[in-house]
Amino acid sequence: MNDKPEKFIDENGLRLDGRQINEIRPMTIKIGVLSRADGSCYLEWGNNKVLVAVYGPRELHPRRLQKSDSALIRYRYNMAAFSVEERVRPGPSRRSIEISKVSREAFEPVVMTQLYPGAVIDVFAEVLQADAGTRTAAINAASIALADAGIPMKGLVAACAVGKVDDKLVLDLNKPEDNYGQADLPIAMTQDGDITLVQMDGDLSQEEFKQAVEMCKEGCRQILEIQKEALKNKFADDTAVNIPDDIDEVTYVEAIVEFDIEEDEYPEEDDISGESEDEDEDTGSLDEEGEPEDIEEEFIDIVEEAADEEEITEGSDIREQ
Ligand code: UDP
Repeated sequence: MNDKPEKFIDENGLRLDGRQINEIRPMTIKIGVLSRADGSCYLEWGNNKVLVAVYGPRELHPRRLQKSDSALIRYRYNMAAFSVEERVRPGPSRRSIEISKVSREAFEPVVMTQLYPGAVIDVFAEVLQADAGTRTAAINAASIALADAGIPMKGLVAACAVGKVDDKLVLDLNKPEDNYGQADLPIAMTQDGDITLVQMDGDLSQEEFKQAVEMCKEGCRQILEIQKEALKNKFADDTAVNIPDDIDEVTYVEAIVEFDIEEDEYPEEDDISGESEDEDEDTGSLDEEGEPEDIEEEFIDIVEEAADEEEITEGSDIREQ
């Protein structure tokens, strides 16, 4: 193990890895990396590398473990034996059991488990390379993997830690800061700013604690943006709209923008000529559904207008609207 550094923050206010005190490490996210999992995510955060697989919702066996009114979430955090300098003994440890428990609890308020009584949602978080902050890295990846699995959630969960070194609060601890620092406060937060995990090692005054929570929340907000961007990119590719040859383009656009048309944008009944069901020149002819054709035309105009406004084009992401 490296020795304790003399100073963690230099005269320019920079940390050992060159970061500002309120700067998170670079994060990259890959989604859907495992073909057999329902959802998966590989995440690198600084020197941390984690892989998360999500399975479910699927029927829970044995049945006596089933919850009649909701799904059960199981979360397993595991460090690969080779993920740290000193080999980790394979199998559960007190540390991994604790991290698995608090991480599961970090997701319980957002995952809509009530939709799947009797089911289980399994989250497997494997730490491949550790450099402090692995529980928070795993939570960030799990959030994406759950979304990738299509599990209904009220929002994403993001996590990061604040610590104290050289008597200063620093965001997103690296290994020396974690191992030799004065405090470590990992937090997980929902998109609404609700905290779903707080743990703390070391000492912080009440004032420092408050500041640390605010700093952590800011870190989580930045991570949420990275997570959302990653999901958008993934689903923009996946949902590229390829209009089949035998489907009329207008019908297709109509289906996409159906929910974007405000009620008050529908043509007023009074504005529509030809309401009568009689099929004559004044009232307009009826289409196959028995609706006057000009109503349909007017509706299509609105749909097309809405489509123009939304710039709906072939290949656009329908989920972003
Ligand atoms: N660590 C280690 N061996 C262990 C557990 C942890 O070398 O058995 C290292 C690893 O780099 C980890 C860091 O210590 O990321 C901090 O561990 P901590 O328990 O604070 O959890 P984390 O910050 O990773 O969530």
